[in-house]
Amino acid sequence: MGVLACAGLVAFVRPSSPATAMSRASARSATTAALRAARVTPAAPAAHGAGAPFPGLDSLRGASRKLRARFLSPGRAAGLTVLRELFGDSAVSRAGVYAAGDSSGAFHFITMRPFADKVKGRIGSYRIGFFPAEQHAARSKAYGNPEGFLEVTSSNADTPISDHFRLRDFLTKDQVNVWPKYLVLREPLVDKLELVLNELRTMGVEAGRLQVMSGFRTPQYNQQGVGAGGRVQDSRHQYGDAADVYVVNGARDWMSDLNRDGLVNTRDAQILADAAARVEGKHPDLVGGIGVYKATSAHGPFVHIDVRGTRARWGAF
Ligand SMILES: [Zn+2]
Repeated sequence: MGVLACAGLVAFVRPSSPATAMSRASARSATTAALRAARVTPAAPAAHGAGAPFPGLDSLRGASRKLRARFLSPGRAAGLTVLRELFGDSAVSRAGVYAAGDSSGAFHFITMRPFADKVKGRIGSYRIGFFPAEQHAARSKAYGNPEGFLEVTSSNADTPISDHFRLRDFLTKDQVNVWPKYLVLREPLVDKLELVLNELRTMGVEAGRLQVMSGFRTPQYNQQGVGAGGRVQDSRHQYGDAADVYVVNGARDWMSDLNRDGLVNTRDAQILADAAARVEGKHPDLVGGIGVYKATSAHGPFVHIDVRGTRARWGAF
């Protein structure tokens, strides 16, 4: 990894890139330009998006001000000339994590593998399967194919994408020994989860962290759970804008007793769901599904949160 540093401003380059040819001064100005340019230039709407470009992202760090990454499809990366200036042409054509930052910390541009790199349901040896729109006409734009995939390697999986979440948190939970893995993820979901965490604290609820029980689900993985009482065929989890989460305080990886009544049950999940609903009230562009789930022998109570673009509620509401 190459590192350029100047007066507290750094640009990391991963994988190897022509940045060594760049002077420190130009790295600083280009980095500043990158942050400024990305803030003012509206990005193209995602093919799988639901509505306005980057709903909820009124700046690079999102409504939460806690985002630390922007995901770039090949087309979107090509339009960001500062990405090329800062990291070279390979940043546009080669999937990777490119980090720039200032005194407030690193910010990552992550360029994707194009959707067309998926051949016969796989990229490399990682099984992804076939999206609903590959099998029948999409019922709406929000159910179209994703633009591309984030390539997650064993060395970049811990990249922070916001103050409280890493790339690793959203991976499909299968094929544990296969690398690289591929991930569909949308920034507005991460933004919403950060806002929910903050909202809980504003409500006076102790909220150490939000654990992602299930984030992205590849279509082939989602398909395994489709059926009565199980997953739905067109689950938003396949589109990278849904997560099943619960609040963890302390060492045990389980929903906490949020209302402090001595029990961990659906009432605690309801508090988490209420926080998500309050976030939607303050940020209508992050509207989506909120579902409350009770505990089973396999997991504690949890809440599904997504940013599908239209309001949906289920469970104990
Ligand atoms: Zn879910």
